[in-house]
Amino acid sequence: MRLRVTDKVPLNDLARVSALQQQALVAVAADVIGSGWYIRGPKVRQWEHDLAGFIGVSDVVGVANGTDALELALRSVATQERRVVVTAANAGGYTSCAARAAGLVPRYADIDPQTLLLDPRDVERVLDGDVAAVVVTHLYGRAADVAPFRRLCAENGTALIEDCAQSIGARTPEGVTGSLGDLATFSFYPTKNLGALGDGGAVATSNADLAARVRALSQYGWARKYSVDLPGGRNSRMDELQAAVLSYRLKSLPEANQRRRDIISRYVDSAPDSVRVLPAEGAHHVAHLAVVVTDAPEVLAEHLATFGIETEVHYPVPDHRQPGLRPDSAHLPVTDSLTGRVLSLPCFPEMTEQEIDRVTEALRSYRCERGRA
Ligand SMILES: *Cc1c(COP(=O)(O)O)cnc(C)c1O
Repeated sequence: MRLRVTDKVPLNDLARVSALQQQALVAVAADVIGSGWYIRGPKVRQWEHDLAGFIGVSDVVGVANGTDALELALRSVATQERRVVVTAANAGGYTSCAARAAGLVPRYADIDPQTLLLDPRDVERVLDGDVAAVVVTHLYGRAADVAPFRRLCAENGTALIEDCAQSIGARTPEGVTGSLGDLATFSFYPTKNLGALGDGGAVATSNADLAARVRALSQYGWARKYSVDLPGGRNSRMDELQAAVLSYRLKSLPEANQRRRDIISRYVDSAPDSVRVLPAEGAHHVAHLAVVVTDAPEVLAEHLATFGIETEVHYPVPDHRQPGLRPDSAHLPVTDSLTGRVLSLPCFPEMTEQEIDRVTEALRSYRCERGRA
């Protein structure tokens, strides 16, 4: 494919991977259509088994989406006494939204300025006997160091939940993300590293009790059919088509993750000093987003746009400044100082060499006209 200057370099293009997989996806869909099972049947069981094996946990529950996965995980650990959820405010608002939906109250801790991940030292500051769970988001694809959180949570009688929506396949010396806390949540929204052809999500755990609670809560609170044992149940199920697509796509995930890392390495090598590209090298990072930190991201975005390159901001408004999340006052100097300084560049496995070259050329020719990064 040759690029003309008028061609856009998109942030993402899901049609490309679907076109490459067209025949296989049609076969997968035909199989589901012919099976007579459409929701939480044999394909979902197979997918739960596949994902549990991939992560290294004993149980996975397929649910409707990643936000429901967070909500159900939170409901499974919250009690009358513990109604607070501690998390970072820069991770897109999903945990806050899920906590509010479960009738819980988010409380924010600050982030590390280098990694942009939740800072355990600040979590220690805000932990108390009201906290049901700490949610650590492996943001942008980078696995957080979970050990300090596990220690703090154990001392405080608090559950540790990993949000792996952006980190599927990221591997630390301790294990794969999703196997490092009490519970883990996943999203298979189409733009994630492992995306379905619609919505999908999962909760993973090696605690059989929690797995049974999440499974019951995801289907009306049923212990058995039509027997409601748990309060707070809902309907949040995965469908057979999504499960079958995910089992098929899981096979090529490691290769796709490596391609993403390679793209980000090229950006790291090309960016001027005023643009800090967050590196994504190594097995602990699956390069979900190519994020740069710079003092004038809107100037950089304009420069990239003259090359036809699309960009986006992940995320423009932190949770504690979102009126709809009914924020309390939070002291988050690092989070606030990084708001308005991040920009995401195109990064998806099917990017062409010419597209990657276009981005690296544009980065090389960038001269920041305002301030210092
Ligand atoms: C996408 C995402 C979610 C939510 O997943 P949905 O399937 O869209 O509900 C949760 N957390 C993070 C970090 C995400 O990126």
